Amino acid sequence: MYMRIEQDFSLLQYNTFGMKAVARCFVEYSSVAELQQFLRSCSSDEQILQIGGGSNLLFTHPLFEGTVLHSAIQGIEVVEEEEESICLKVGAGMIWDEFVAYVVAHGWGGAENLSLIPGEVGASAIQNIGAYGVEAKDIISKVYTINRNDYSERIFNNEDCNYGYRSSIFKNSLKNQYIVTHVSYELRKHPILNLSYGNISAAFGANEEITLQKVRDHIIRIRQEKLPDPKVLGNAGSYFMNPIVPYELFDALKNDYPTIPSYPAEAGVKIPAAWLIQQTGWKGRELGRAAVYEKQPLVLVNTGDAEAIDIIQLANAVIFAVEKQFAIRLKPEVIYV
Ligand SMILES: Cc1cc2nc3c(=O)[nH]c(=O)nc-3n(C[C@H](O)[C@H](O)[C@H](O)COP(=O)(O)OP(=O)(O)OC[C@H]3O[C@@H](n4cnc5c(N)ncnc54)[C@H](O)[C@@H]3O)c2cc1C
Repeated sequence: MYMRIEQDFSLLQYNTFGMKAVARCFVEYSSVAELQQFLRSCSSDEQILQIGGGSNLLFTHPLFEGTVLHSAIQGIEVVEEEEESICLKVGAGMIWDEFVAYVVAHGWGGAENLSLIPGEVGASAIQNIGAYGVEAKDIISKVYTINRNDYSERIFNNEDCNYGYRSSIFKNSLKNQYIVTHVSYELRKHPILNLSYGNISAAFGANEEITLQKVRDHIIRIRQEKLPDPKVLGNAGSYFMNPIVPYELFDALKNDYPTIPSYPAEAGVKIPAAWLIQQTGWKGRELGRAAVYEKQPLVLVNTGDAEAIDIIQLANAVIFAVEKQFAIRLKPEVIYV
């Protein structure tokens, strides 16, 4: 066991946008007991930010005055096994895609469509990460947490988490109150593949046997083709959420733009933000030291040495253009710190 404590710590390796932010203090714990010990030692006015891989964050100031916490809790433990399913409890500090690779290699289904999403296991339960028609909520069984105020342990069942599109109770009414230490996932021993979204099935021959590994490999390939590698071009994935608009607005837009793409959503219609941005002509355009990625307009990139202001100004310009043309206000998915 160890607790790593650093002062004036560069967060460059802990944010995929590549912002040159520094944390006054950085603490990495490797067990629940260490986390509780650290929280007990903090004064009540200490500013604390728990991060994972920093792949959905934008540090808006060069200095974070408080303590940045990072989990080094690792490990995968079988908590229940039945004829059809297996339940695994996973440390929050594990790299998400290493977990996906592990379960796919064991032939356990449910996570394969979420291959190559950056970040760590803890954040998957906060963010309800999603891709190719699957969301983390579809496989999350329990979320193990520590209360930041009284250091007590609390286990949330899936239904307690109020999961929605890229949203959970931890991003809303319980924001910044719980630190996730472990997440348990229930996976299928006889996988049911989900190949409908984005026409994944078209990648395979009619009589081909489609395995979890083949699905994972295919998704990795398309993601690598479509999305910028943060090590080369700083970014935080989708900068904006796909807006859900009321039926009346959608019907009016459909009149003006008959080819507008859409998906059914709760209480409205979901429109791909990438399509909206593309219509405004912002795809591929630069502003300052930031750009709208040429292959995927939902992604804003750091073109080199950008500061947060470059990214925010570009985001605002895109929001303004979309609102002017479609009367839809895009909301950032990226979290501003
Ligand atoms: C190239 C690229 C592609 C992406 N593609 C997708 C995609 O397809 N689908 C998708 O959903 N997302 C995608 N993302 C966004 C990102 O990968 C996810 O949001 C991911 O879950 C963030 O994980 P993280 O560990 O980096 O969390 P961070 O960015 O560090 O943190 C995100 C939030 O979670 C909180 N948090 C993190 N860990 C904990 C914890 N242990 N306890 C309590 N709170 C915690 C943080 O405080 C913060 O509010 C992409 C990002 C990039 C860079």
